[in-house]
Amino acid sequence: MSLSAQPAASLFIDGKPVEGQGDTLDVRYAFDGSTIATLREATTDQVAQACAAARAAQPAWAAMAPVERGRILARAAAIILERNDELARLETLDTGKPIQETLVADWPSGAASLEYFAGLAATLTGQMIPLGADWAYTRREPLGVCAGIGAWNYPSQIACWKAAPALVMGNTTVFKPSEETPLGALKLAEIFIQAGMPPGVFNVVQGRGAVGAALVTDPNVAKVSLTGSVPTGRRVYAAAAEGMRHVTMELGGKSPLIVFDDANLEDAVSAAILANFYSAGQICSNGTRVFLHEGIKEDFLARLAERVKAVRMGDPLDPDTNHGPIINAAQADKIRAAIRAGVDAGARLVCGGMGEGPFIPPTVFADATDDMTIATDEIFGPVMTALSFVDEAEVIGRANGTGFGLAAGVFTQDLTRAHRVIAALEAGTCWINTYNLTPVEMPFGGVKLSGLGRENSAAAIEHYSQLKSVYVGMGGVDAPY
Ligand code: NDP
Repeated sequence: MSLSAQPAASLFIDGKPVEGQGDTLDVRYAFDGSTIATLREATTDQVAQACAAARAAQPAWAAMAPVERGRILARAAAIILERNDELARLETLDTGKPIQETLVADWPSGAASLEYFAGLAATLTGQMIPLGADWAYTRREPLGVCAGIGAWNYPSQIACWKAAPALVMGNTTVFKPSEETPLGALKLAEIFIQAGMPPGVFNVVQGRGAVGAALVTDPNVAKVSLTGSVPTGRRVYAAAAEGMRHVTMELGGKSPLIVFDDANLEDAVSAAILANFYSAGQICSNGTRVFLHEGIKEDFLARLAERVKAVRMGDPLDPDTNHGPIINAAQADKIRAAIRAGVDAGARLVCGGMGEGPFIPPTVFADATDDMTIATDEIFGPVMTALSFVDEAEVIGRANGTGFGLAAGVFTQDLTRAHRVIAALEAGTCWINTYNLTPVEMPFGGVKLSGLGRENSAAAIEHYSQLKSVYVGMGGVDAPY
């Protein structure tokens, strides 16, 4: 079976595939390191061309009836769902994530985003404000050209999540995927054209950080939405500030998952698995600090260690594989260094460890303390750190004792405690008695260092539009002289 996934060209500008003129970009299958495509980065001139194409396409796109823009997005969603098997396979080759995940999570979530915002398109209005005889109204207007920059863990979902709210509002976009996973966004560009989207409305450039940096400061760009790490977020936010550009920042986390002693233990263990090992742990919202009540700690860990034995690492294209390789060797090295630091600091390794080659098994540390790096730093791999607690107020304080604030979860059967604890946690996206579900209907995003702005839901529209206020004088004008 050929693993080639060579696209027609590396970039997509003004409705057409265009070859990049910059450095070469080898795209590798994380499972065996084989090259599945060879792309070329965009040059600075090509980034400017993509932004100019988006700028030129924007007025006509914004002038279309919203319901027509929505219809194009809905058509694109239908095409994605029809082609889901083929797209999932490509996503698996691009990311190394198991096909059993990419079939249900990646493009389907992207399609849901397009469907949701397609439906919302015709409802996006301003406000009428009575002022006695006079009145005012607001127009909700697009920002212009919105740049999107993605991480490598959910490349196609991220492209859809950023494109859908931007496009229904009448913005146009230029998207730069992570250099690790450039293929899905090119498919999305093709599908949009097939669905009837005019050229220039959705463009794709490829490249490493420097290409992203050129995109952020392009004079045609009015808004930047980044999914990435906190250090990159700082750089991008600062660069965007120079032009007073709007930003959405979806950054990293070290989220707490708190399990009280009255929790349904089996469900809590399932949630901890989803919160730490899905996508081999390469998920921003993961609940990697699992606070276990002293009373259930050992039972929980024993059951988790038992359940983890059912992990199947192997070729991600094999439908039985449920744990794939790490995206690349550098990331695997980083994760192994974090595991080594946990062992050196004296935490108890309950299961897992270094693994081999691109594979790192589900790894659980217990008896950790809050100051160990395995409890403070985002690892972005399949490494869970269990911490124990006794008291509710104590665990809330410790859960909040981090600069991050992306997500949080609570497991308890006590209704009032669940809501009380969630209300006290400093996190943008929370779950009670479940974890890591991110339906398009619910806003998603972080607080503190984990970012600002929200993706998904009607809340995302706030971040892709601006209000124009119009005062309407109905009588004469009084002036002092
Ligand atoms: P990075 O921050 O390394 O990169 C993110 C994107 O920014 C990439 O496309 C990268 O390009 C690009 N980039 C790098 N430097 C610059 C720059 N100076 N200007 C503009 N763009 C730049 O993140 P990763 O790809 O390693 O992804 C992992 C991180 O993403 C984790 O911290 C994770 O928590 C976070 N994340 C957050 C999510 C959220 O929704 N909150 C969801 C998923 C991940 P290139 O890769 O080509 O260098």
